[in-house]
Amino acid sequence: MAIQFPIYLDHNSTTPMDPRVLEEMTPFFLNDFGNASSRNHAFGWAAEKGVDNARAQVASLIGASPKEIVWTSGATESNNLAIKGAAEMYASKGKHLISAIHEHKAVLDPIKRLQKQGYEVTWLEPGEDGIITAEQVQDAIRDDTVLVSLMWANNELGTINQIPEIGAVCKSKDVLLHTDATQWVGKMPTDVEAAGVDLLSATGHKFYGPKGCGFLYVRRRRPRVRLTALIDGGGHERGMRSGTLNVPGIVGVGAAAALCEAEMSDDAIRLGKLKKKLEDGITAKLDMAVINGHPTERLPHTTNISFPYVEGESLMMAIKEIAVSSGSACTSASLEPSYVLKALGLGDELAHSSIRFGMGRITTEEEIDYTIDKVVTNVQKLLDLSPLWEMVQEGIDINTVEWGAH
Ligand SMILES: *Cc1c(COP(=O)(O)O)cnc(C)c1O
Repeated sequence: MAIQFPIYLDHNSTTPMDPRVLEEMTPFFLNDFGNASSRNHAFGWAAEKGVDNARAQVASLIGASPKEIVWTSGATESNNLAIKGAAEMYASKGKHLISAIHEHKAVLDPIKRLQKQGYEVTWLEPGEDGIITAEQVQDAIRDDTVLVSLMWANNELGTINQIPEIGAVCKSKDVLLHTDATQWVGKMPTDVEAAGVDLLSATGHKFYGPKGCGFLYVRRRRPRVRLTALIDGGGHERGMRSGTLNVPGIVGVGAAAALCEAEMSDDAIRLGKLKKKLEDGITAKLDMAVINGHPTERLPHTTNISFPYVEGESLMMAIKEIAVSSGSACTSASLEPSYVLKALGLGDELAHSSIRFGMGRITTEEEIDYTIDKVVTNVQKLLDLSPLWEMVQEGIDINTVEWGAH
């Protein structure tokens, strides 16, 4: 099959909506346009039925009960509700929170706001493999800890935190565990019971559903988690998130969840092979390329590779028919190296010239072959132009070079 350009390898930023999802959503934009809270007529009932069905689909994907799903506008809102909502609700128990320095901004920023309001935060730092361990969490928990918030898989690296083990530690210490599972849900098997997770954030557009619609899982038993709402009015979603439900969006998230549940294991096997091909193809030809994060504890569809001595922006320009992300998508307007890569202890040189390749359902083997070839050729070209690389080839240790004024 001929390759369609540009090639999309940025599935960690967003996924294309599956056409089968759009098909399920369409009736809810048209004939079934009712308000899901209208109890007195068929329009409301049809909408409510769509929402109930989606709630069951999403609950099934993560091993929850439908009553434990709260619809939101996406993972950013889910994270805000989980973190601020739990911190405020349990403030009388304590004001200590635990998170990590390489979380997504949608976790970092709400926690930093709480910090300004007087909460104390322990910021865990990953090892150079990018992973937060259960032992680190165990050591950080105090008597006044109310919430641990750690992502399941990292958006830039694809690295996987030890969530079930962390869940067990939190349970044994009676501390709530929130996980931003945005990159994990729909790609990997998820069981909130087995993982000991109390609060879980996810969003439809990262698993082939629509944008602007996501959910928060809120545990109802052992323990029953209560949250202070951020948005009041009407008492929708058990009082945790008021406002008329986005019925077509919710139906789409449900449909996307059902497709993922059915297809994720095949997708993971296929994409895992393509990832290996991509990594092997690039590192076989480019000795200096470094794969970032843990070698195996990573999502099957994500890889992040540094090309030291090559200028990241120049490489991005040279391969512009391939849509990838360099550094963090949220901060890529700036030339600051990614804070996530720096968290692994990578020097600026490695952090500056890294590319995240995120594959997905539409990715083909031909696209990966093309990408390997394009990246290898252009990195080689840029290396030939790189004075740093020339010095390294001549055996000069560039870490000892005095660069003059900074
Ligand atoms: C994309 C992403 C978010 C934000 O999701 P939205 O639905 O766009 O708000 C939060 N956390 C992680 C890890 C993400 O990858």
